[in-house]
Amino acid sequence: MTKADQNSVSATSKPSKTLKLLGKPVAEAIRGEVAQKVSQFTQKHGRQPHLTVILVGDDPASGVYVRSKGKACEQVGMKSTTILLPSSTTETDLAGQVRALNQDQAVDGVLIQLPLPQHINAEKILNLVDPQKDVDAFTLTSSGAIFKDQALVYPCTPYGVMKMLRHYKIPVAGQNVVVIGRSQIVGKPMAMLMLKENATVTICHSKTQDLKKLTSQADIVVVAAGKKEFLGRDAFSEKTVVIDVGIHGSGTGNQICGDVKFSEVDDFVAAASPVPGGVGPLTIAVLLENTIKLAEYRCQTV
Ligand code: NAD
Repeated sequence: MTKADQNSVSATSKPSKTLKLLGKPVAEAIRGEVAQKVSQFTQKHGRQPHLTVILVGDDPASGVYVRSKGKACEQVGMKSTTILLPSSTTETDLAGQVRALNQDQAVDGVLIQLPLPQHINAEKILNLVDPQKDVDAFTLTSSGAIFKDQALVYPCTPYGVMKMLRHYKIPVAGQNVVVIGRSQIVGKPMAMLMLKENATVTICHSKTQDLKKLTSQADIVVVAAGKKEFLGRDAFSEKTVVIDVGIHGSGTGNQICGDVKFSEVDDFVAAASPVPGGVGPLTIAVLLENTIKLAEYRCQTV
């Protein structure tokens, strides 16, 4: 897609010089490829690839995510099962459920929806998932495999960012990349993925000094700090590619917003992903891709 297509606007307004990195076309391309692979897998093995999600408790946001995941699976021809457990579920019972899914040959991916209730040690439960079914790549084994460049799959959101950069033909090798955030879910795997693609990577976090000096010198900045609209135009240069991973319920005008003030960087930086509509749609698309990858891998090895 060209910059002109991306930024097509009404005849009266001036097009932005910033390439808008929209997630929808990237997600659609991923889903199209996954649907093809799912159809081939189903023909070859006489069953659909199967993702099982465990949801403990009644957190409304988690409920929405889990339903979206189920719908997305159906749309590409995958089987999806959701195991709903009450918030009173004990750690032992939950561990038993995970072990049973690990043993079930008809289950290809196991996802534990976070957050888990406070009385459950989430780290312990996540680590019980069979690494060959670990669609989120959150187990210790998967994290070690990422570190060693031997991962079967990568955490969905950072992998989605790589897919976005590839889709918009934004080079990564040799570029100065700043990743803001060092979480297990986004920041750390993001940095490892950038390194794998031969970027020169700087990881910033809450104790980093003079953040804006680092971001304004970078070619690509991935912002995953979880701080509502905390960076604006003064954090970047005109050549920067800005990927905003943050999602916040209510920003300016009570709209969903990111970690970056999009209105300030639009028409200034080289490229930027908006929130909503940027990285968001990629997470579930990559989850589908991870599920079919693991299904294919396990069926080759059993
Ligand atoms: P987190 O809270 O676990 O980690 C935030 C990181 O940012 C920490 O490592 C912290 O050191 C760093 N940080 C905090 N304040 C900072 C500052 N002022 N300067 C520099 N670094 C700072 O969050 P997370 O789970 O990594 O998520 C980050 C954001 O991404 C959140 O807004 C979350 O909602 C969003 N998110 C979006 C998706 C998606 O699908 N698009 C998926 C996961 C997370």
